[in-house]
Amino acid sequence: MLHVRTRSVEATRQVAAALEPILLPGDVILLSGDLGAGKTAFVQGLAAALGVTEQVTSPTFTLAASYEGRLRLHHLDVYRLDNLAEVLDLDLPELLEDHATICIEWGEVVVPELPRDFLRIRIQLGHPEDIDDARVLEIEPVGSSWVSRNQQLEDVWTEWTTTETGDL
Ligand code: ADP
Ligand code: MG
Repeated sequence: MLHVRTRSVEATRQVAAALEPILLPGDVILLSGDLGAGKTAFVQGLAAALGVTEQVTSPTFTLAASYEGRLRLHHLDVYRLDNLAEVLDLDLPELLEDHATICIEWGEVVVPELPRDFLRIRIQLGHPEDIDDARVLEIEPVGSSWVSRNQQLEDVWTEWTTTETGDL
């Protein structure tokens, strides 16, 4: 488990962008955290690094959006539980076979439908709590594809990673 700390929305976008060089076709990134945590901000940073020129917004009302970049990016938001059926109707299996990057916000409900390998990112309001813009990204590589990239994850995020739980 890695802990990455940011203190601005730009920093969260940079953290996401730093991940781009180690992405492989078909990677799935699961984002959870309360409304306003920064899940969409993370996807925006990743999209920019992938060379997506279109503006990435929250797909809450559209459920899924796709963008062209170095790798195609599918951005899903499973905000309501009844979205799950709709997401499955979106041919998730097909999206998973697209050799694209898939980012799923609130994706925990989708876990049973996912491949074994995914990067789980939980975004929490950070410490110190009196700083509104502080966030902690708790990152857990799941499955061999991501576990084997653990060192790479540490390397790209050294600037933001803390091994201790104390404040910066
Ligand atoms: P979510 O998709 O999780 O609901 P958004 O990414 O849409 O959240 O919104 C996050 C909000 O929090 C934005 O208004 C952003 O400017 C703000 N924010 C403040 N600090 C941070 C931070 N460190 N990381 C990400 N977003 C931040
Ligand atoms: Mg969002």
